Order: sequence, then C-alpha cells, then structure tokens
Amino acid sequence: MRKIELLSPAGSLSKMNVSFRYGADAVYIGGKAFNLRARSSNFSQEDLREASSFAHKLGKKVYVALNILAHDREIKALPRFVKFLEEIGIDAVIVADLGILDLVQEHSQLRIHISTQASATNWRSVKMYERLGAKRVVLAREVSIPEIRKIKDAVPDMELEVFVHGAMCMTYSGRCNLSQYFSERDGNRGVCSNTCRWKYHIVEEKRPGEFFPVYEDETGTYIYNSKDLCSIEFLDKLLDAGVDGLKIEGRMKSHYYCANATKIYRQALDSYLSGTYTYDPQWRRELEKMSHRGYTSGFYLGKLDKESEQQKGETFASHHFAGLVREKLSETEYLMESRERFDLAKDIEILRPFGQNERHRISRAINQKTGEEVQLVQPNMMLKIQVEVPLAPFDILTTDQKLIDSQAP
Ligand code: SF4
Repeated sequence: MRKIELLSPAGSLSKMNVSFRYGADAVYIGGKAFNLRARSSNFSQEDLREASSFAHKLGKKVYVALNILAHDREIKALPRFVKFLEEIGIDAVIVADLGILDLVQEHSQLRIHISTQASATNWRSVKMYERLGAKRVVLAREVSIPEIRKIKDAVPDMELEVFVHGAMCMTYSGRCNLSQYFSERDGNRGVCSNTCRWKYHIVEEKRPGEFFPVYEDETGTYIYNSKDLCSIEFLDKLLDAGVDGLKIEGRMKSHYYCANATKIYRQALDSYLSGTYTYDPQWRRELEKMSHRGYTSGFYLGKLDKESEQQKGETFASHHFAGLVREKLSETEYLMESRERFDLAKDIEILRPFGQNERHRISRAINQKTGEEVQLVQPNMMLKIQVEVPLAPFDILTTDQKLIDSQAP
C-alpha cells in the first residue's frame, strides 16, 4: 500500500506526545539552535534524546529542523550537533542551506529533507536536490496541485512533502526581511515579529502624525497579511498529485491546535487510504473552531485569489483551549492543567484522539495548590476535576465561552 506520512508540529515534548496520540506519523522539532522557531520551546539535547526514543517506541519518526540560512559564525557548532543527532537516531534533518546540507553529509549519514525555505517550485530544482543526496523535498507553498503532479512525474523517486494547514508568509516560503528591517528580529533566524500582520497606514511627508488608510476602511490595510492555509476540502486532490508527506504548520501553536489539526487530517488521510474517500463537512467545522486568521486554499488551486487571501488582522475561534488532562487520579477524578479563564457553570467540549467531540460539565474543581474549590477557572492552574465521563491523559478540554484573556501557548 502507498505510504503517506502525516507530519505534525511539536514545540515541546508534551506537544509531541499530543501530536502522536492524535494520529501523526512523524513530528518535526527544533533543537536550541539552527532552526527557524527560536521562540517555540525548542528541545535541549536531553529532550531530543527522549523525543527520539519515545517516538521509536511508538514506531513513529522525529525530524529535526536545521533550516536557518546560516552565516559562517553559526555553523561552527554544527558538526558536533549533527553527530549527536545521528547518535540518538533522529530519522532525518530538514535543511534549507546548501552549506548545511554539505556539512551534514560530511559529518553523518543522516537522511536529509529539503526545507520549504529552499523554495523548490520546479522539477529541475527537485532533481538537483536528488543528485545532492536528499531523500525528500518539502515544496514551496507557492506551487499548485498540477505543478506538484508534474514534479512527481519528473522525479518519481523523490519524496514530496507539502504543507496542508497553518500560517502562511506573504514572502516566498518565509524568505523575508520585513521583520529584520522593522524590528531587527530576523525571520530567517527564528525570531520573526510577524511584521506582516501589523496594521499599516500611509503618512504624507508634510503631515507627520496623520495616518491615512490605504483603503477607505477605518481599520487600515493589511497588505501583507495572509489568511491561514487549510487544505481539508481538497486534500484528495493533493494526494492524487502524488505527495508523500502532509505537513501541518505550527511549532509555536497550542496543544489544542496540535491535537485538533492532527486528528482531522488523520481522519481525512485514513479515509483516502481506505480507497473509499468521502469528504466529511464536519472536518472543516472542527478546524473552524480553533483560532485561525480565516482560511485560504493558498496557491494549490491555481492563481492566488487576492481578495480572499488577504484579511484584516482578525483571528477567529469559536472554541478555546480550556485545559489539558494530565493524569487520572481515580475513577472520577483527573488532574487538569488549565489554559483559559472559564466558568464551570457551562459545558466544556472534550476532544479525544478518536470519535466525535462530546459536551459535558466539570462538576467540581479543586485548586491542587491551595485545596480551595474553584468556580471561575484561571489560566495555568493545576486543578483536580470531577467529570461524569471517563477521561484519559492528553484529552483536551475546550470552551466556547467568550474569553477575556488571549489564548495561552
Ligand atoms: S514578517 Fe510575516 S512574511 Fe515575513 S517571515 Fe514573518 S510571518 Fe513571514
């Protein structure tokens, strides 16, 4: 049977656990250096060792991102790190920079995947990476489905991976200097300040302080501001084009995001692999629930629709990450780590790796630290909760109550 991998983000060991439980075949993670997500928790060497051994016990894979565009000063420490990754059995490294590719090959036998940061958009480029010894190319987000088909036909032995869900950059697969220019935080070194999502106005030279919106719209313009990618409605077309890996973006995102996105794309992929693919509209509804900037099909369906691609800096979410079940304490009691402020008087929704989400009420919550009973839950509390249905560690509780605080990571 054709093998297609579902890859999910893992910004921490705990999120990796969630991604695997909810159906990922592999996760991609970053060490403390050399990757583009310097602000996600990132993995220490001990964490990387643990991640590798945990994944392999489950028969799953771990890929480590080494996808910075490196300067000389940054690659000195790389040989030692590469040898370490090989020693602990990491399944592949993801590189964008030819110098890093060369260095990885010189110091290890590690499998090499080419990062989307390399912006591969044509078969000649993919063929070249094959000659250079890479085993997989994560295509640029800017390719269309017919282009993917052509690339696969031209280079059939190269594994192709595509992004199916998550944030999009306005620049070519994230090769961007906006953040560096405006805030001296380099998007190619993992410290992007999301400058493209700021609100922009025009100021006329002789009228300092007077900000003119570019459009006749009092909210200003968000000329760089992309909606998030969502491929769920045409995933079968992407799979028909011959892709070998489906990647969910979001190493900075929450446990809820990892769980929900992974579960939905797992269901769709399993349906496709069963040979009787049927699109379930509930998939999109579940993806709409979690925080997103509006969804777009990106470039996959052809020319980018500029009207539907741009948005005005809003995020949408009907459900928020209320808490993560950490431990079963007894038949009816569980330890929950809260992430949002919510009232126990209203139902929560339970998200599990399998089956439909269920609505239930937490009948009682005790603050583990103080022993006091809690009615209004605050973020980052450890609570002993009672619920009338069985829960398991890493079940996710969500709330559709209106929030005062923003979503915790
Ligand atoms: S500023 Fe925007 S487009 Fe540029 S790297 Fe950051 S997220 Fe991407």
